[in-house]
Amino acid sequence: MQSPYANSAVLSELELTGRASSHVQQCEQPRCTLHCDALLALQTMSRAALADGIEIVPISSFRSFEQQLWIWNAKYKGERILRGRDNSVLDSAALSPAERVAAILVWSALPGASRHHWGSDCDLVDRRTAPAQGPIDLLDVDFAPDGRYAALNDWLGERATDYGFFRPYDQDRGGVLPEPWHLSFAPVAGPALAAMSADLLRSALAQAPLQGGEIVAEQLPELYERYVVTVAAYPSRAARPA
Ligand SMILES: [Zn+2]
Repeated sequence: MQSPYANSAVLSELELTGRASSHVQQCEQPRCTLHCDALLALQTMSRAALADGIEIVPISSFRSFEQQLWIWNAKYKGERILRGRDNSVLDSAALSPAERVAAILVWSALPGASRHHWGSDCDLVDRRTAPAQGPIDLLDVDFAPDGRYAALNDWLGERATDYGFFRPYDQDRGGVLPEPWHLSFAPVAGPALAAMSADLLRSALAQAPLQGGEIVAEQLPELYERYVVTVAAYPSRAARPA
């Protein structure tokens, strides 16, 4: 049988690094911006989840280079909360530039290196158990067996690969900490990661007003390996969904 995702094209260098949005489309139901193949799969998966009493809602999908740059710089300057590997709040002003860069990377990608640039990745919660008002936080504890998203967590663990999705940050590999809410659509994300490189990232960052840019430039090959490449391998089942 031919894969319904056969037309998942390899992204251009500008698309891979979030500097173009020609590979994604905006959708109202659910409200998100994704590659059309990932969107179709998300809609199909959401219908199946709904039949099991889970209302999947993406709270973050495509993010541009500029948006990621803003997040990065705000964290570096202490304008957004910076957390350590133990989730404790850090005082950005008390950290060296290298420490700030390392702390940001635990929870946020370098602009140009976010999987959210690809239109293949999204952060999911269950609307039925999400807070009725106020901000929706993405916390590990909420995806634990007694957490508010436990049912979603179990459902995704059993079924996501049927629809081509997998969790790249499923466990601590020394880089990005586990993000059980972050789902990646393998038929788009696999080729995207294969097409990325430290050199491409370097060229995307070359002209950007990146805080801590000198440290990043110095450490780029290591940072690229640790925070971009070191993720879960996608299950072959996710690469060719039924
Ligand atoms: Zn995410």
